[in-house]
Amino acid sequence: MRTLLGHALLIIGVAVTAADAQVTAIRAGRLVDPDAGTVATNQIIVIENGRFTAVGANVAIPTGAQVIDLSTQTVLPGLVDAHNHLALTYKQFPENNVYYLTYVLESTALRAIQAVSNGIQMLASGFTIVRDMGNNANYADVALRMAIEQGWIPGPTIIPSGLIIGGMGGQFWPTPEMAKDHNIVYPEYLDADTRDEIIKAVRQNALFGARVIKICVDCKPWGYSVDDIKLFISEAAKAGLKVEGHVQTVDGGKRAVEAGIWSIAHDRGMTDELHKEMARKGVWRAGTETPISLTGHQTQQRYDFTVRMLRNAWENKAPLTFSTDADYYVPGKTRGEVAIEFIETWKAAGIPARDVLRAMTTNGFKVSETETTRGPIKVGMWADLIAVPGNPLESIDALRDVRFVMKNGMVFKRDGVMTPAAFFRGGPVNGWNTR
Ligand SMILES: [Zn+2]
Repeated sequence: MRTLLGHALLIIGVAVTAADAQVTAIRAGRLVDPDAGTVATNQIIVIENGRFTAVGANVAIPTGAQVIDLSTQTVLPGLVDAHNHLALTYKQFPENNVYYLTYVLESTALRAIQAVSNGIQMLASGFTIVRDMGNNANYADVALRMAIEQGWIPGPTIIPSGLIIGGMGGQFWPTPEMAKDHNIVYPEYLDADTRDEIIKAVRQNALFGARVIKICVDCKPWGYSVDDIKLFISEAAKAGLKVEGHVQTVDGGKRAVEAGIWSIAHDRGMTDELHKEMARKGVWRAGTETPISLTGHQTQQRYDFTVRMLRNAWENKAPLTFSTDADYYVPGKTRGEVAIEFIETWKAAGIPARDVLRAMTTNGFKVSETETTRGPIKVGMWADLIAVPGNPLESIDALRDVRFVMKNGMVFKRDGVMTPAAFFRGGPVNGWNTR
């Protein structure tokens, strides 16, 4: 085992010196700092070995550097979708948009291949980080992360949750045949009803490569108690993981916040009071605000509530992330184009472009726990960035036209066209195992 590990580290060393020795310099006409909400003009960004090594107006371009001219564009950090399911795509045909049927009809292998494509589509729309929050068959999300990190394929940095942990049945009300045999559908949820089962479920996900733990707080009327959720949090912490709760009731939201959960998915359990408490305790809100334009996936009544509560969360300074839950096929749109549609809801809530952008970048890096390694365009960080012709601080719709994408210092999209050849490699150039 030790020999194998040594071999892998050697491969990493070779890959870095041979493939990424190229020095790249970007001329950025405008460079956005989403944290400060400011724009600097005529900046030079230098990238070596996949990381930013210099950023500023008076930076000299190193001799022999490959120069990328984005002097007519606005450069900004990559975007974050804090809630997606890349290995799930339910559809009008054949399953009538009932995802329960997708689980029956499509294998983990097929869904893993779909996830590769969905990841590429997200990256093309500027999403360089995706938190992949379960419902990904039998750990297809972890496999996707590993394939991207090992260097086989392009894709966003994936923060996978592995299987969603819930009381028996998870989000479903399965038939006894399904529930007892644990074959069809069951890979989607990990049953944990007792305290021993909670501990074991967290450890299983950690063992199989999860980077965050996702639980069903209140998918059943009995749900998880405050003490149960605290047990999840303490057990996950042993593996360095945070806990996100799927919440669909006000009671569930209260229990999750009281227990000190890291993040809450969906807005159905949100109230003015809870938003105030989330602001006080620093609980991330991943509200999954479906726009009204995605016909068949949103109703006017639900949309009005969603817009009102997003506005309320912003007014109360609850920590906001941009999250979509976009796990379905919209004919004519890529997965990335569906995800970017969600800015419509943020505009309807009257949230200033600067704060929407912060939710899509800075806050996304924080909820993903990458803010010290990946996200900000700062020296030492992995070199992820995007460019658009407009200025997203003036109009957030500028993000609908991502013309340039860089990931790990490699150009993935240029002049609006994907150029991913450098990302496809015949082996695990970054090491054979990144679990
Ligand atoms: Zn979801």
